[in-house]
Amino acid sequence: MSGPGRSIDTEVAIVGAGVAGLTAARALQTAGRSFRLLEASHRIGGRVYTEMLDSNMPFDLGAHWIHSDQVNPFARIARDLNSKVVPEQDHYVAGRHFVDGNWLPPDACEAFVAFFDRQVAHMTAAAAAGPDRPVVDVIDNDSPWAPYFYLFFGQNYSCDVDMISVRDASAYRQCGIDLAVRSGFGNLVARHGADVPVTLNSAVSEIDTSGPVVRVRTNRGTLRAAKVLLTVSSSVLANRQIRFVPGLPEWKLAAIRELPMGSCMRVGIVFEKPLPSEPGASFTTRFGEEDPLHFRNRPCGHDCIEVTTGGRLAAWMERSGEAATLDYILARLRQVLGNAATPVTRCRIVSAWDGDEWTRGAYSYAVPGAQAQRQALAMPVDNRMYFAGEATSTRFYATVHGACFSATDAVALLLAS
Ligand SMILES: Cc1cc2nc3c(=O)[nH]c(=O)nc-3n(C[C@H](O)[C@H](O)[C@H](O)COP(=O)(O)OP(=O)(O)OC[C@H]3O[C@@H](n4cnc5c(N)ncnc54)[C@H](O)[C@@H]3O)c2cc1C
Repeated sequence: MSGPGRSIDTEVAIVGAGVAGLTAARALQTAGRSFRLLEASHRIGGRVYTEMLDSNMPFDLGAHWIHSDQVNPFARIARDLNSKVVPEQDHYVAGRHFVDGNWLPPDACEAFVAFFDRQVAHMTAAAAAGPDRPVVDVIDNDSPWAPYFYLFFGQNYSCDVDMISVRDASAYRQCGIDLAVRSGFGNLVARHGADVPVTLNSAVSEIDTSGPVVRVRTNRGTLRAAKVLLTVSSSVLANRQIRFVPGLPEWKLAAIRELPMGSCMRVGIVFEKPLPSEPGASFTTRFGEEDPLHFRNRPCGHDCIEVTTGGRLAAWMERSGEAATLDYILARLRQVLGNAATPVTRCRIVSAWDGDEWTRGAYSYAVPGAQAQRQALAMPVDNRMYFAGEATSTRFYATVHGACFSATDAVALLLAS
């Protein structure tokens, strides 16, 4: 990669072509600065990725929602690229509940939404007063609705209520409603990023800042740059897949350690015959003391069902494999449809982010006491090594727009120094 006789090959080496890396590349392009965008995998988009579940049926294995449409750049990008979006408000908490063989009455749904909102208010109050604690310490765990709160909390934060800082959980900001992209969020990001120059299949294994230029070692040679911008996930950093010479300072290592990634699994299933619409677009099932499970029926009008799980349940599902995951989900669905109506599966798709070498988890959370570590993770080292990516966002972590904003901020810092 490096050319003889030149001190550097490019001004900025960007590591990772997920949303943060792509956004950074565009910002540098706009500023008229040279860069090389290095991506380990064979594609761009990182954790925003769509595959076909069936013919004409795209399925998002990673990010699905354009959250917070009022601030999310992808709401405008979807419009500009004529991508159909489906607005949904409270799409997860406001559904029906099937418990021990019966549908709960409609007002149960409202009761749960009210319970959910009360717990969020408890979290906000607890975050403002007293020491930081795990979320489990400040919510009403004795309520019959508590297991449902755990379910949706796990989806939102990719970890369980006992693992995450109440300050971090309540720092997140929602601005507006969520939009689902009918043709797939991953496809939208891939279309939007198609004209950004990127070197694919180029895994960075070492970053050496010991000399006057930054040396970025990859499986395809070494690149010499003035600065480097890292956008890889906090788990990729924690897993030491990139060696730093000299080693990262202790404050940066602490930030990486205390912002681990949780688990989130998305499953899509197409049946030989579409499910009856009777259960509604969004419903949960629960029998006895088991964990409830949440279904979306015909998401975005596609004839399939979608299941999203988070936290330990998602991690367990991924470890157990596709067959066990499908058995688990179908057993729950039989509770609603009755054994006689066991649907015949035609095709399915199951995500596996924990095992993905270039991600190693779904999205970041802060352990109790570590909310400020997001700012530390975002801070440059030595004015030559910059950091972006969802985990560095204080208000919009774990999201696509958080990754975008973090990259814009990191590039502004880099250009100012
Ligand atoms: C199941 C799931 C559901 C989600 N749902 C939503 C949602 O509905 N809405 C939402 O807004 N967000 C959602 N998210 C979160 C969202 O996908 C992420 O916050 C966002 O995509 C992160 O972007 P990023 O650029 O920070 O990181 P990434 O997307 O992880 O990008 C980092 C890039 O770096 C590359 N890389 C890693 N190591 C190296 C290396 N050594 N050398 C070179 N390249 C490397 C990776 O391949 C990757 O392309 C979801 C995520 C998951 C997993």
